[in-house]
Amino acid sequence: MIQISQLKLPCTHTQQELREKIERTLRIRPEELIEYSIEKQSIDARKKPQIFYVYTIHASVLQEKKVFKKVHSKNITIVEKKVYQFPFHAESIPADRPVIIGSGPAGLFCAYMLAEHGFAPILLERGKAIEERKKDVDSFWETGKLNPESNVQFGEGGAGTFSDGKLNTLVKDPSGRNRKVLEIFVKEGAPEEILYVNKPHIGTDLLMNVVKNMRKTIQSNGGEVRFESKVTELCITDGKICGVVINKEQFLPAKSVILAIGHSARDTFEMLWEKQICMEAKSFAVGVRVEHPQKLINYAQYQLELPKTLPAASYKVTAQLSNGRGVYSFCMCPGGYVVNASSEEGRLAVNGMSYHSRAGENANSAIIVTVTPKDYGSDHPLAGMEFQRKLEEKAFHLAQGKIPVQRYEDFCKNRATDSFGTVHPSMKGNYAPANVREILPEIVATSIEEGIRCFDQKLQGFADPDALLSGVESRTSSPVRISRDPSTMEGSVKGLYPCGEGAGYAGGITSAAMDGIRMAEAVAGELR
Ligand code: FAD
Repeated sequence: MIQISQLKLPCTHTQQELREKIERTLRIRPEELIEYSIEKQSIDARKKPQIFYVYTIHASVLQEKKVFKKVHSKNITIVEKKVYQFPFHAESIPADRPVIIGSGPAGLFCAYMLAEHGFAPILLERGKAIEERKKDVDSFWETGKLNPESNVQFGEGGAGTFSDGKLNTLVKDPSGRNRKVLEIFVKEGAPEEILYVNKPHIGTDLLMNVVKNMRKTIQSNGGEVRFESKVTELCITDGKICGVVINKEQFLPAKSVILAIGHSARDTFEMLWEKQICMEAKSFAVGVRVEHPQKLINYAQYQLELPKTLPAASYKVTAQLSNGRGVYSFCMCPGGYVVNASSEEGRLAVNGMSYHSRAGENANSAIIVTVTPKDYGSDHPLAGMEFQRKLEEKAFHLAQGKIPVQRYEDFCKNRATDSFGTVHPSMKGNYAPANVREILPEIVATSIEEGIRCFDQKLQGFADPDALLSGVESRTSSPVRISRDPSTMEGSVKGLYPCGEGAGYAGGITSAAMDGIRMAEAVAGELR
């Protein structure tokens, strides 16, 4: 297979033009190009408003070696296609079927791989199946009435379901698990472009269907999925897992338990602490969601307001401040919505989501500042979680349970917003103008204020007085890390496998899914 990198075409190009460019680059006739695939597509906007797509292509040609010798360029190489292989296959259903707690990306992919390879896992999820979950989430956004077991954080597909569905990750992938995750998503209904675009994303509307299809595949491969099944106790004898208790009443025996509970299962963290599972407080980040008109971001990035052939523009900005803190954008959602992502009564957290089209009026992203265990005011392993809770309580009370929203100018002047200016909130959930700054520790608030001013130098208009800030963005990653042995992948108890974001080993959908596959490999190795 010949790989061509850095193949550049104007963003308005056609498929035929791409094919012709490949032929020209390889100096071959049309009939010599057997087939080609796009491996990567990124956008080059350095000479805006002239914008290019830059491709990495895999081409299959007649007389490959001869063509390769003839063209001789550093952008043309011969490559082998790497295919991920799951290392084990069960000969029969194991007597002790693996039990997975949590159906977020980590638990779902773990169950998917174990089921596909004959290990008949049992997947336990405290929330509801997606069809029912969606009704609860919609009703919460309309009425403000929260179901603490079925919401944006809990239920089929986990925290990733009502999201933007961004799939990029910084995790290195020599094993091919990243590609495998994307391939499974495509097989289960995600658009094929996620296999090659530089910043792949699915969108909530498509993700709901994908997670449902994954559930069906798990079931048809011999796995079992039980909803409204909260694990309320881990049963441990002689330092080994022997089972779990579901909903405080039903004992399920198990020798291998994958703990993929996400970062919001605070009651479960408390139960784990009571069971003396080793864990420690870790740093995470807190702040606000910022909203700008998508047109403003498109113009800043492309110098075009309405790109026809380009996706809604995104950004990633960071700044190191004079007070020693770093401030950065996170989980940016082009053409998206700010969502009320709360999961506890009397506490409010925001996040961002989008649909596949990313056609919403506003762009939003979290603007956050790292907080460390030194900020938590206690050295208890769950102190970070309590720190989050306090911020979320303030956010809840500020606007009587509605999402508090503030203009950037009012945030800087530390005064409540009374009416919005040129930017109007694009939100899922009720909102009200307020003084969002009151929620945050002063060091975080001043860092956000200064950070947004710095970002304006990179993206003109970012510090517009009418840009909107809402809060509180507190669920950026897990406040704890549950210890695990890097060779066996087990936690402080034999047979317990801490996995995914909640355990502190992932940050985002793809890395959580990859960690789920990794745990499936470890458990399958033990059970085979
Ligand atoms: P989770 O997805 O949190 O799943 C954990 C599951 O465990 C939940 O379903 C929960 O109900 C269940 N559970 C918890 N405790 C128990 C128990 N005791 N018994 C049974 N079940 C239990 N990341 C991205 O990469 N891209 C994005 O665009 C993106 N957007 C996001 C938007 C929103 C609104 C939110 C909330 C998050 C977003 N994220 C995004 C983050 C991403 O969703 C998480 O990183 C990812 O879901 C973590 O996966 P996980 O499987 O480790 O945990």
